[in-house]
Amino acid sequence: MKHSQESRSSLALRYGEHRIRCAVRRSDSRTKGSISIHIEPSGRVLIDAPALASDSEIRLAAMRRVTWIYKRLSEIEDRLRLATTREYVSGETIYYLGRRYRLKVIGESNARSVRIRGGYIEVSTVDSSPASVKKALHDWYRNRARSVLADRLAEVSKQLRWVKVMPPVSFRAMKVQWGSCSPRGRITLNPDLVRAPKQCIDYVLTHELCHLKEHNHGARFYRLLDMHLPGWRRIKIRLDDMADAILAT
Ligand SMILES: [Zn+2]
Repeated sequence: MKHSQESRSSLALRYGEHRIRCAVRRSDSRTKGSISIHIEPSGRVLIDAPALASDSEIRLAAMRRVTWIYKRLSEIEDRLRLATTREYVSGETIYYLGRRYRLKVIGESNARSVRIRGGYIEVSTVDSSPASVKKALHDWYRNRARSVLADRLAEVSKQLRWVKVMPPVSFRAMKVQWGSCSPRGRITLNPDLVRAPKQCIDYVLTHELCHLKEHNHGARFYRLLDMHLPGWRRIKIRLDDMADAILAT
């Protein structure tokens, strides 16, 4: 962990008749002249700037990319709209291990259950309200995640000689990440990852397991990842492209 001083402020950009609010984070760990802009999945715009950057310098850098910012925000808005209009009724598309399934809701069942049958994921609930279906489906995903991701982790670990013992794993729904690895070697995985293709799951696991050896994203980390999963960039793009569809469930 590197300790550095940070200060936070905000600014508003104009784009046509739109006003875009941005959070600004100045930090003395950034080199002079390097201003970067991130858009978080929630739609928050975050500008990272060196401690001594002036307001006008930051504004100028942001204005240069304002069209890009606006486009990204529009996409996020569309996605959020899509995600919130999901109704949990029969016929909707849902994903498991990268495969598309149709949701089939069976109401008025004696017990709650979820199972895969052909191209369908059948959810049986006592009542067929969207809230019950959603809960049943999410619990099922979580259980599948625990079993499938643990199996894949054991499998991927076998190929990596520095993984002598299986690292402790926990599961947590995260908006921004598929996984993370703590400095002490605890791996946290997003259970939604079980909706992605196996190849993408293995990529995320390999990435996290490489962190057991290289804790940051420095050149040595990427060299290690390149060595053990040479095609990871292509797989990452595939996962990024699928993320919106997969997560809108
Ligand atoms: Zn990482």
